[in-house]
Amino acid sequence: MIDSVGLIGDPVDHSLSPAMQNAAFRHHGLPDSYVLWHTPEAELGQRVAILRAEGMRGANVTIPHKTAVVPLLDALDPVAEAVGAANTIVRLPDGRLHGSNTDVQGFQRALSAVGFDPTGKRVVVLGAGGAARAVVYGLLHAEAQSLALVTRSVEPAEALLSDCLATLDSDPSLLALPFDNPELRQVIVEADLLINATPVGLDGTGSPIADDLIHPHLLVVDLIYHATPFLRAAAQRGAATQDGLEMLVQQGALSFEAWTGLAAPVDAMRAAAQQALKERT
Ligand code: NAP
Repeated sequence: MIDSVGLIGDPVDHSLSPAMQNAAFRHHGLPDSYVLWHTPEAELGQRVAILRAEGMRGANVTIPHKTAVVPLLDALDPVAEAVGAANTIVRLPDGRLHGSNTDVQGFQRALSAVGFDPTGKRVVVLGAGGAARAVVYGLLHAEAQSLALVTRSVEPAEALLSDCLATLDSDPSLLALPFDNPELRQVIVEADLLINATPVGLDGTGSPIADDLIHPHLLVVDLIYHATPFLRAAAQRGAATQDGLEMLVQQGALSFEAWTGLAAPVDAMRAAAQQALKERT
């Protein structure tokens, strides 16, 4: 086994990626091993430099380093550049490091897996952190008609929307509003898609918004990998639902393809991630 690829983040021990990526390497009979590289902020430069060595394939990058890693790389794909964050590093044959952001396309593929096309749709996104950035970019570049970004304080939402708008040719209707704004109810009444991109519900408790704001004509997505109280309430209220596992699998499949040039065995990767999640809970 060669520890040629891994996950750079802090913390990393919760990750389903080793199970998923190692299933893909085994599927193709490759000797690579995907490992967890717990990396405090002070060690990020050193960790990334190790990827330049012969025999390394690259890495995934997670919280809190997706933005900080960008200046340490030699080249970026246009999506990572526009989002300002990279979650995948590929070591090129000459040792240079190329960054990309597979969260954006992973999210778009996860939506299409449940038959949802964002084009012309009205969307509400809760949270304005790193995951929301990829989601908002993916939705607006898929030509969503309108997008409301809901946060505790409006400044990060306004910054995210203005960064994203700068990358668009179209002019969608955009709104930043706080959770406690009474307009939120009407905005959700008119929406087709509602996404939780906050960590609320990660520990199995709490919901980002009141259950009675959810209506049966919504697709409700939670980026958290398991059924949260928010998703359970949505299902009870007759909405279609999707948890974050498919986005995780799809972004991982795209990373695998970037490292190896081989087709990702998506079904085997999904099954391995589901099994690892079951063993964890
Ligand atoms: P992040 O960068 O820390 O951002 C979290 C966002 O949630 C911020 O806007 C934060 O707002 C908000 N928030 C935090 N606690 C809140 C609360 N109690 N009430 C309301 N808003 C709150 O985290 P992230 O990387 O975006 O991750 C967000 C979630 O997505 C996590 O659960 C993560 O596991 C999940 N995720 C899933 C995938 C996938 O592939 N499925 C990929 C990435 C992330 P403040 O600025 O007010 O704190």
